Amino acid sequence: MLTPRQEPLLTESQIRERIDQLAEKIVADLGTDKPFVLAGLLRGCFMFTADLVRALSIRGATLKELDFMVASSYGSGTESSRKIDIQRDLQADISGQRVLLVDDIIDTGHTLKLTRDMLLTRGPEYVKTVTLLDKPERREIDMEADYSCFSIPNLFVIGFGLDYDQKYRELPYITVMEEV
Ligand code: 5GP
Ligand code: MG
Repeated sequence: MLTPRQEPLLTESQIRERIDQLAEKIVADLGTDKPFVLAGLLRGCFMFTADLVRALSIRGATLKELDFMVASSYGSGTESSRKIDIQRDLQADISGQRVLLVDDIIDTGHTLKLTRDMLLTRGPEYVKTVTLLDKPERREIDMEADYSCFSIPNLFVIGFGLDYDQKYRELPYITVMEEV
């Protein structure tokens, strides 16, 4: 049976500290002169997004709109045969806007790439991708997040928005699911 490991991989305070650092970097790179649209990928992004927008706000960034989408990629692993299934699209008009596309984790890379490419067809000023976690060993395509808090090994993790069978999203830390 798979259960959450007692010892966190990333503690609450480690996550908080790193989100603050990332917000600092985002504001330094992108500036605060123009409000941005935050587009979050539900459901995994919810906790990270809540912390990220506050960390950005403290540093002078303002939101034009906060919006969410539900998307998943399907099909075989090769780039050309992958498609994206949008269960809920953005309501926000992102034409001419600065967009931060936020997800919980970049794993194979398909979800973030397909979602970003779809948003790019709508004429935004830019789309920058932001993830809490990155599992580089799992990548199947040439795709990196513009901003990522933590690079982790190839382990299935839960907590801080990430689920196992819809459970454990509420945990304030990240831990590994393991066989007992
Ligand atoms: P990708 O298209 O990059 O393979 O998929 C990213 C999605 O896979 C994430 O949004 C997340 O829903 C799911 N995922 C990938 N790795 C993990 C993991 O370790 N734990 C959980 N809970 N979800 C994961
Ligand atoms: Mg997801």
